[in-house]
Amino acid sequence: MATYQASRLPVFNGPAAWGAILAPAPARPTLAAATGCDIAILGGGFAGLSAARRLKQIDPGLDVVILDAARISEGGTGRNSGFMIDLPHELTSSDYAGGAGDSHDRQLTRLNRHAIDFASEAVGEYAIPPGYFQRAGKINAAASDAGMAANASYARHLRNLDEAHEMLDAKAMHEVTGSAYYGGGLYTPGTAMLQPAGYVRGLAAGLERMGVQIYENAAVLTIESAAQGWQLRTAQGAVQAQKIIMANNGHLERFGFKRGQLMHIMLNACMTEELPEDAIRALGGHACWGATPADPMGTTVRRIGPAQGGNRIVIRQGGYYRPGMQTSTRDLARLTRAMRQKFDARFPMLAGIRFQYAWSGHLCLSKNAVSVMRELEPDLYAACVQNGLGSARGTLTGIGAAELACGRTSAITDFFATQNEPTRLPPHPFDSIGANAYLRWKEWRARLE
Ligand SMILES: Cc1cc2nc3c(=O)[nH]c(=O)nc-3n(C[C@H](O)[C@H](O)[C@H](O)COP(=O)(O)OP(=O)(O)OC[C@H]3O[C@@H](n4cnc5c(N)ncnc54)[C@H](O)[C@@H]3O)c2cc1C
Repeated sequence: MATYQASRLPVFNGPAAWGAILAPAPARPTLAAATGCDIAILGGGFAGLSAARRLKQIDPGLDVVILDAARISEGGTGRNSGFMIDLPHELTSSDYAGGAGDSHDRQLTRLNRHAIDFASEAVGEYAIPPGYFQRAGKINAAASDAGMAANASYARHLRNLDEAHEMLDAKAMHEVTGSAYYGGGLYTPGTAMLQPAGYVRGLAAGLERMGVQIYENAAVLTIESAAQGWQLRTAQGAVQAQKIIMANNGHLERFGFKRGQLMHIMLNACMTEELPEDAIRALGGHACWGATPADPMGTTVRRIGPAQGGNRIVIRQGGYYRPGMQTSTRDLARLTRAMRQKFDARFPMLAGIRFQYAWSGHLCLSKNAVSVMRELEPDLYAACVQNGLGSARGTLTGIGAAELACGRTSAITDFFATQNEPTRLPPHPFDSIGANAYLRWKEWRARLE
């Protein structure tokens, strides 16, 4: 009999701001008794909710339960920057292109667009407010010669792929962002910009209307094989399920799977207070835009508006390798100071504007950029390890795991079936020492971006 026990549960540092700026979500029950279902999903982020939606598309009669250790939109999914990107987005490269070749990148782009369409259909079907999902595109913003060179190199790659893009000069960047900081940019139209909390709360509410049962603050402590299927136990309850989909991203390792193969990176972000009228005038620029850095190790900046929860700026920086999947309060304070400097350099006209929220979140990578989307044990599936692009990749792994659990194959299941196992990492503490030294060096090189 197989038993998998969670060695630790997720710990979140700082508020999940995207949810905090919206009206409070109605409380859902925690699991306080024993129940049963056809398929139980562990984790209610992009992957888990997408898996539930796909299961219900395949068979509306399926009895589906989702359990999350936190509230919906409090975990990794509610802590990100909200770029649902269609194009290759390889964080370990110097310009996102990655080295897997044009044919792989074309395939990945097709799949990412499938994920974006899947999300867009959900927005329509579940009446999710349009401000929470906008096909607005994004800019790779460059501030230094190295950043401009990275954009030029990425543009060459996009030309090879026949992908639409537009180079922006400093004046155009100023017009969009209101900031004179950037020397240029590379606009690509296919990215969907999410209000991540609004989007996943809308997904969860839509799924509930289709009969999916969602339990919050229901951390799964053990997964045990049972006479028929599996049993999940929480502190106060249990779920007996024919099949299980683990959609808990890097926390998969906490249950003993893929130990020593997953890289846990903590990223940090800040959101300003609501910009007053005079600050909005002083800032200028467009009302909504999103800029990823030309060098993946630089700073991401977004300007959001009332349709996302207020006129605010969101900034993201810093990647620390933390096998414990947790940021210390000291790390967060240090990175918040660093983000303030980046913010001031870009927006000197907003010197008096406070950061209202500062938080950290978790990104799970594998060294060879593969996900873990497969059957781990009979009737136990994983939709995990989203690498740098959890909104699109999480959606895809969720769809794929649902299809596998229903015995279906598709372009998505085929894609993940060809992926290797995540490469083994050096043992602790050499993995942390090596990775952090590398990240600091990359970050220093990208310091102006
Ligand atoms: C600051 C920051 C910015 C980012 N920006 C972007 C971006 O712009 N675009 C992008 O695509 N990605 C971005 N990411 C990455 C993205 O957020 C993640 O890849 C994504 O959240 C992964 O989705 P998921 O559903 O696989 O996992 P998660 O969102 O982490 O969801 C997993 C869920 O499992 C739950 N869980 C874990 N253990 C248990 C347990 N034992 N029992 C029950 N539940 C459990 C957790 O509470 C969590 O809610 C960013 C990440 C950070 C931190």
